Amino acid sequence: PTSVNPALTHFPLDDLTPSAPEGKANATFVTLARNSDIWEIARSIRQVEDRFNRNYHYDWVFLNDKPFDDTFKKVTTSLVSGKTHYGEIKEEHWSFPSWIDQDKARQVREDMAQRKIIYGDSISYRHMCRFESGFFFRQPLMMNYEWYWRVEPSVELFCDVHYDPFKFMIENKKKYSFVLSLYEYVETIPTLWDSVKKFMKKHPEHLAADNSLEFLSDDNGETYNKCHFWSNFEIGNLDWLRSKAYIDFFETLDKDGGFFYERWGDAPVHSIAAGLLLDKSEIHFFNDIAYYHVPFTHCPTGEDVRLKLKCHCNPDQNFDWKSYSCTSRYFELNKLEKPAGWHDQQ
Ligand code: GDP
Ligand code: MN
Repeated sequence: PTSVNPALTHFPLDDLTPSAPEGKANATFVTLARNSDIWEIARSIRQVEDRFNRNYHYDWVFLNDKPFDDTFKKVTTSLVSGKTHYGEIKEEHWSFPSWIDQDKARQVREDMAQRKIIYGDSISYRHMCRFESGFFFRQPLMMNYEWYWRVEPSVELFCDVHYDPFKFMIENKKKYSFVLSLYEYVETIPTLWDSVKKFMKKHPEHLAADNSLEFLSDDNGETYNKCHFWSNFEIGNLDWLRSKAYIDFFETLDKDGGFFYERWGDAPVHSIAAGLLLDKSEIHFFNDIAYYHVPFTHCPTGEDVRLKLKCHCNPDQNFDWKSYSCTSRYFELNKLEKPAGWHDQQ
């Protein structure tokens, strides 16, 4: 499969019945959720199971800043075909670090509320973004695994997943993957790139030789163009996130306080890390994993793929080739041929 254009589906479409997997990857699904998210996460799990996991039985780790209640545990355990694990996040990973100036952080929230910036007034959303940026991959329950697939409440999978994406990642030496990419709201990250530049100066040893700086910057690193992979879907390597390179990156950002003084999202944080610390060849775009998280859809380009994988998404809604997506840029930078039919979906 390695020689096939990775933008297209990489496994023979005439072999649609996944055989009982011989040797699973050391992998888990992971979901951060509140007890109140139960019915929304139940829908997501049902789709992931129907389209993929009922044939594979990978485990599922649930994380929460509060204890999960019995209903949450009962319902999710009944839906997941693998083992389920429930972790409570320790306070240190879900609170203001000591160096944060509370008054300054409060003023920012008030100001962002007035400017009607999405989640701008929220404390919990900021803890969530910081947690997803720096801590989910080193929770005790996650230490048992090498690979993760992040799933959020109310997402949809529109096509059969006809091979094991974890094994695809392993066999093709991938570390991070995405299905949707777009531009970040500048109001949430005005100084993020300043911190990134500080990191690049301090730790040039961590920058990958064949990195994707071009995906992130139009002026060779002077400014950020706001392109990022949408992190509510991710399949990735946990050992990479636990590496010194990534931790040095996260800690440089965290010290600057932008998770609280601005509203840095985990999507640009993960994306910039992937773009700088990984080689281009280690980042993968899954054309054949069809996905929705409000308000964007990734519906595979190419009718052949859609019909064979029994997709139920409307190809007109595919976001990939629209002007607000960064996926074209990703293709160009990696010198990938766009799938046939992309032109009609612009
Ligand atoms: P959005 O996708 O950026 O609009 O944000 P979401 O509301 O979907 O939150 C992202 C993820 O974090 C989802 O998996 C949520 O269930 C989870 N999440 C958000 N806020 C909290 C919180 O305060 N506590 C917990 N335990 N999970 C949260
Ligand atoms: Mn969400």
